Amino acid sequence: MDDERLVSPKSHEEDTAAEKSLRPKRLSEYIGQEKVVDNLRIGIAAAQARGEPLDHILFYGPPGLGKTTLCQIVANEMGVNVRITSGPAIERAGDLAAILTNLKKDDILFIDEVHRLNRAVEEVLYPAMEDFALDIVVGKGPSARSLRLKLPKFTVVGATTRLALLTSPLRDRFGAVHRLEFYSVEAMDQIIRRTANILNTALDEDAALELARRARGTPRIANRILKRVRDFAQVTANNHITLDVARTALERLEVDELGLDPNDRRVLQAIIELFGGGPVGLSTLAAATAEEVDAVEDVYEPYLLQLGFIQRTPRGRIATRRAYEHLGLPFPERITPNDLQGTLW
Ligand code: ADP
Repeated sequence: MDDERLVSPKSHEEDTAAEKSLRPKRLSEYIGQEKVVDNLRIGIAAAQARGEPLDHILFYGPPGLGKTTLCQIVANEMGVNVRITSGPAIERAGDLAAILTNLKKDDILFIDEVHRLNRAVEEVLYPAMEDFALDIVVGKGPSARSLRLKLPKFTVVGATTRLALLTSPLRDRFGAVHRLEFYSVEAMDQIIRRTANILNTALDEDAALELARRARGTPRIANRILKRVRDFAQVTANNHITLDVARTALERLEVDELGLDPNDRRVLQAIIELFGGGPVGLSTLAAATAEEVDAVEDVYEPYLLQLGFIQRTPRGRIATRRAYEHLGLPFPERITPNDLQGTLW
């Protein structure tokens, strides 16, 4: 269900072609994530000065924040080729061996959803990352021998939405680990204006800011929303996105002033109305809203946490006062141990 939402941070089919042209190509064009960008810049300069390939890099954070984009930028800055694959696409150890033996010196191997590599494949990846070696077994039974092939020096760039699911030996093999954060409204504003420019769309300043506020701190969503609003402007407003046009379009698209759509509100409402505000366990919540557990954890929860609408507790998720207020529901004042302290003595 999540994949069809306008505000889903996961890639839609319609995004794929457009994303290519909208992707910044160099670090200097990249908006936001200043800490990550600075660290990458230093890593790249140091590797270039030493004439060596980059250390293996891991990017983690919610979908749509720029992990793939940054990998391609790193490759452009280093002047090297990228081979793109993903955890679930590499089914057997032999698949990875085939990829590795085709890499050239300094190439980047991008592994999206790296937490989904299976064990057998990971076992092949460890020596490849650590010693640039590929161990293969030749023959069967008592005459089987293990051979070690040397690989050219290359760089693995891994991306994951779920750092906690990475095995620790794999995580330890990444020399640089970068966490991507949701973008600030200012950064989103710049990203939206940059996209409007590339798409040749007239966008008023206050309209850009309005879209920036509603794009959930996620560039992929910003670009998708902008395209929908542009369609609306083309049909109803002479191709010009004013604040009014932006607001009307977003209302029709059911994206509220914080970027929540009916599905987000359904999740919040379930916590509040079905579970008395929580705490409620993740799988119970997923079942009650007919969502996948992964979707709740990867997609809904990060943004609701960021807004301060829900909190994670050891006993489950709870809805905060802000969530009640946003939905226009009365917040039940609960008696906490702190409140009691003064009255007991
Ligand atoms: P992820 O790999 O984290 O899911 P992507 O790298 O595919 O995300 O980014 C999604 C889209 O967002 C891309 O099409 C890219 O154009 C856009 N994007 C990401 N980061 C930025 C940025 N800093 N500035 C402009 N556009 C960005």
